[in-house]
Amino acid sequence: MQIVLASSNRGKIKEIKKYFGDDVVAFSDLITPFEIEENGNSFKENAIIKAKTIYEKLPNHIIIADDSGISVPALGNIPGIYSARFAGSNATDKDNLNKLIDELKNNNISKAPAFYTSAIAIASPYGIYTTHGFMYGDVIDEARGDKGFGYDPMFIPEGYDKTLGELDDEIKKSISHRTKALNLAKYILDVIR
Ligand code: IMP
Repeated sequence: MQIVLASSNRGKIKEIKKYFGDDVVAFSDLITPFEIEENGNSFKENAIIKAKTIYEKLPNHIIIADDSGISVPALGNIPGIYSARFAGSNATDKDNLNKLIDELKNNNISKAPAFYTSAIAIASPYGIYTTHGFMYGDVIDEARGDKGFGYDPMFIPEGYDKTLGELDDEIKKSISHRTKALNLAKYILDVIR
């Protein structure tokens, strides 16, 4: 059965397609794209909302949704589930990144522990499944490099001294929150596909 991604985020689509190879399509390749209201209280709830919404339009498909974001404990875990709209509902990735850099600067923090979360929801004729993955590291008060997407230029993964904006895509793929969640999702997909 074909895997359909319930996302319009280009960075995510690129990474998930790279993970699965040619086996996946974005929902916008099959139906007219539309906004999905993410009003859940957790990454998991929002991932389920997205997967279910697309499954209702495309029954008899396997839908995969990723809800993800970055959290900075020293700032009360912001932006967390609000990562995509941290600087406002029409904010770009760059606006959000700059807002988090400003928050660090306003609190006189040049470097602080942070972590990315990815919740993957699978909606299928067999039911709904969820998995999670995390990536730990530090955020810094400046952007370095232009690889990856979102907050990557300000995030230094544990064990490295460069940001994900500077590190190779393959390195991110080998350690990312999304890869970890997808590795777990793969066990489920192997059974239901
Ligand atoms: P969502 O599409 O509602 O799940 O929002 C995801 C947001 O979290 C993105 O727009 C980014 O701001 C951020 N994010 C999630 N995963 C990553 C990542 O791997 N790198 C950088 N930013 C990420």
